[in-house]
Amino acid sequence: MIVTRTVEHTRRTLRPWPAVALVPTMGALHVGHLSLVKRAGELCPHVAVSIFVNPTQFGPGEDFTHYPRPIERDLEVCESAGVDLVFTPEVNEMYPAGEPETHVDVPAMTQILEGVHRPGHFAGVCRMVAKLFSIFNPTVACFGEKDFQQLAVIRAMAKGLCMGVAIEPCPTVREPDGLALSSRNVYLDPTDRGSAVGLYQALSRAKAMVERGETHPQAVEAAMTETLLAHRLSLDYAVVRDTETLGPVQAITPGRSPVVCLLAAKLGRVRLIDNLVIGR
Ligand code: AMP
Repeated sequence: MIVTRTVEHTRRTLRPWPAVALVPTMGALHVGHLSLVKRAGELCPHVAVSIFVNPTQFGPGEDFTHYPRPIERDLEVCESAGVDLVFTPEVNEMYPAGEPETHVDVPAMTQILEGVHRPGHFAGVCRMVAKLFSIFNPTVACFGEKDFQQLAVIRAMAKGLCMGVAIEPCPTVREPDGLALSSRNVYLDPTDRGSAVGLYQALSRAKAMVERGETHPQAVEAAMTETLLAHRLSLDYAVVRDTETLGPVQAITPGRSPVVCLLAAKLGRVRLIDNLVIGR
């Protein structure tokens, strides 16, 4: 496995490779990330992982400074998983001092939901992912459905700007009790870890309601909200949306057009997101 820290070394290494699948991450790798690596290996002869805690996608007061950075362990994990290249740059390699800001935006999808609660987040995500696509020119890039809105934004960005990369969605990997794996779960104390299962319970309740014939998004949203509050979760949003546009839906019609239930809630200072697609 080759470890690169500069754009130039990465490009030089990639030059002879016919096709590469890229898995962009912020490190603190877990089994969810590894499922993306596995999928990448099924799709391309070479697999590259980027590990970079991207400062521009964190807002003021968010956890950029404290975000876990177990780089030695991450490199071992990548090596064992058969990754060919890990790109782990310093901040000044990705954002050289004095470089003017460059932005890519998908306004219809970045000013709702996470975009409201984390202003500037998607500008940072798009800026970084566009840079990574330029550096790697990957055939495929794997993204988790765990970050459903991010996946939708990246898909729209890649298509809208003809970036020539196939965006591969990968299913959310969960703990046995349903909690979605996340690098941020390490922040949860045992009591909050118990409450965190409320997210998956809210999503499961939504699914059961739709399976029993519920068609009103508002009824499903109210039930999800009730479950989250019963678990002491402080709600940012609990909504039912169209899977493509992320816009509101008039009615839930499983089998005809799938919907996605999207949740964001806080436990103390820890903010968790989760989602479930229903009717696909
Ligand atoms: P992050 O390191 O949090 O930026 O995540 C890197 C990639 O891993 C993103 O595409 C995430 O959506 C994906 N990911 C994170 N958690 C999970 C999970 N539990 N299951 C599947 N993919 C995940």
